[in-house]
Amino acid sequence: MATIAARSLNSPVASLSKVKPADARRLSKLGIETIRDLLMTLPFDWEIYGAPRRIADLGDGESATVVGNISSSVAQVTYRKRVRLTQATLTDDHGDVMRVVWFNQPYLANRLPAGARVAVAGHVKSGPRGLEMRNPHYEPLQSDGDAGPSRIGGLMAKYHLVAGITSKRMAEFVAEALPLASELEEVLPAETRLRMGLVGVVDAVRLGHQPRTEADWQVARKRMAFAELFELQTAFALMRANLALEPAIPIPYRQEVIDAFKAGLGFELTNAQRRSTWEAFQDMQRPSPMNRLLNGDVGSGKTAVAAACVAMAHAAGLQSVVMAPTEILARQHLGKFRSYLEASFPGLTVELLVSSQSAPERRRVRMAAASGHCALVVGTHALIEEDVEFAQLGLAVVDEQHRFGTRQREQLRAKGSGRPHFLAMTATPIPRTLALALYGEMAVSVIDELPPGRTPVMTEVISKHDRSRAYDLVREQVRLGRQAFVICPLIEESEVLAVRSATAELERLRKDVFQDLRLDLVHGRMRDKDAVMQRFMARDSDVLVATAVVEVGVDVPNATVMMIEGAERFGLAQLHQFRGRVGRGSDRSYCLLLTDDESMFVLDRLELVARTPDGFRLATEDMNRRGVGELMGARQHGMSDAAMQALREPELLNEARQEAEAVLASDRELSGHPALAQAVVRRLELTSIS
Ligand code: ADP
Ligand code: MG
Repeated sequence: MATIAARSLNSPVASLSKVKPADARRLSKLGIETIRDLLMTLPFDWEIYGAPRRIADLGDGESATVVGNISSSVAQVTYRKRVRLTQATLTDDHGDVMRVVWFNQPYLANRLPAGARVAVAGHVKSGPRGLEMRNPHYEPLQSDGDAGPSRIGGLMAKYHLVAGITSKRMAEFVAEALPLASELEEVLPAETRLRMGLVGVVDAVRLGHQPRTEADWQVARKRMAFAELFELQTAFALMRANLALEPAIPIPYRQEVIDAFKAGLGFELTNAQRRSTWEAFQDMQRPSPMNRLLNGDVGSGKTAVAAACVAMAHAAGLQSVVMAPTEILARQHLGKFRSYLEASFPGLTVELLVSSQSAPERRRVRMAAASGHCALVVGTHALIEEDVEFAQLGLAVVDEQHRFGTRQREQLRAKGSGRPHFLAMTATPIPRTLALALYGEMAVSVIDELPPGRTPVMTEVISKHDRSRAYDLVREQVRLGRQAFVICPLIEESEVLAVRSATAELERLRKDVFQDLRLDLVHGRMRDKDAVMQRFMARDSDVLVATAVVEVGVDVPNATVMMIEGAERFGLAQLHQFRGRVGRGSDRSYCLLLTDDESMFVLDRLELVARTPDGFRLATEDMNRRGVGELMGARQHGMSDAAMQALREPELLNEARQEAEAVLASDRELSGHPALAQAVVRRLELTSIS
């Protein structure tokens, strides 16, 4: 009893008697370290155990309970994707049959052997082999057939799982921890709760883990989601307020600079580019640092916006720095910035800094930066590793900002004497709500329009029977002098496995499919990825096989085919990113989404990609369908499912933003809101690790 009394919300989960050390390690993978974490992690869904139904009456997409006998069950590891699963066949009392599959629970084949009587509850899907349920809840029953499942009519929580912990176990852990819920601190001010009609944290946690009705669950989720958005928005508002207190050198707007810039471009800026440029100029005129995210699809012309900012900074006597994630990208930037700027602004010199340059060359560039002789240095990580100093840094730009950690971005911003204005660019279209929720400390500009004259990429979903058609297309395009990418299926378990499978795929293609073509391989474990890309760009190879983790984020205008194997394993936004790698030239380009999975759900998602060329629309659709978890790595930002789902209703986020600002307006230091202050500190720590 003494140990129980000593336990608190901050105790490690292992202090619960039901949680063994191995469980604690698994929970930690879900970000659950303390009892508080466990309590605050609500189930992401629930399953209702309704009265048992006949298999013959079930349809695709329904939720149902089925009682019957296991007619066969077997534990397997899938060959291609190395997933462990238990496959069973369930026969109901009318003799109808349904397939049941459990992932990552190989022991179930023993627990539910042929002949066992069982109740399963879950979503019914119609697959190529008839009806099936994936990962349903199950309850072994007495085989005499009289006793029904005990949970019929009740709710069963579904938690996010890691291998080795089922929702059932999670529910047991939570049940043991729930008495401590009464100690949870309230972060929401009473007025806010009242105005929003939200329950307190203690009730929300109890109802959320053990709902009696669907209404209970909704009430709990809404409260938890709102509180989380509110904490995040408070944290962001504080970050913005702190940044606004820091001094920066204002960069005055000068019409003749933008006129000269436009004259030297060789094309008209799109409306979206003009708007974004204008937004950035307005920020830079202020005596506190700009902190802006430029969000535009691949090929939308972000570089030109950044270049306009560089020109304006230069006119104010300030230098700029642009950091890109790879050497190839840095070199491409160098070319673009030079062509956009050097003709119109004779004194404006652009230099490159990457680690493959000779030591004397790098020294020369460092000198040029330190003496103030060059206006812009474009480079890679080398910029922060080789302590480059600037005489007067006014603007720091980071391309593909998600590829850098917060620390690296901070290091870049520390290059000058004061704080430079900061522009982050990302080619992942992020719906506005999500941008506010994830990057609320930044202002956001959106380029939601492509330059005119682009030919949309023909996107097609191709099933395994049609595979040869995809190969024919690749061959034909190569014959026409074009090139192709082949992306291997996503293997999340390990990069080593991914490399192995990509290597095997390369060998197979070389031997059986494209004997006559020149193939090359690039993967994440390679030291010299850039060299492979260079060969591809120089047309020394026809087909580039790549692992999924390698972002081939470069312009290869001659590549016209993007073939993606195992397309169903990728998020829609990711597929769209891959697609953006072709269609850079004026020729017709193709994106082929290959899949062996023919379930309605999979085909429907892939067809959506095929008919939606607009990245923002696709991202929004994806978010509405699935929530945003996998989509944008929101989980890395420490966001729960409830909060991510709540983003589908922009009003809730707006309310959270307004409430956060109202609280800060009256209590700058949050001294009257200690629980909120603590939660905000935790959030800030989370965001600064990312
Ligand atoms: P991203 O947003 O992916 O960084 P880039 O800045 O690399 O896009 O631009 C992609 C291509 O489109 C470049 O070749 C660029 O010169 C061209 N481009 C950019 N803006 C325009 C425009 N307004 N009209 C025509 N071409 C443009
Ligand atoms: Mg770019």
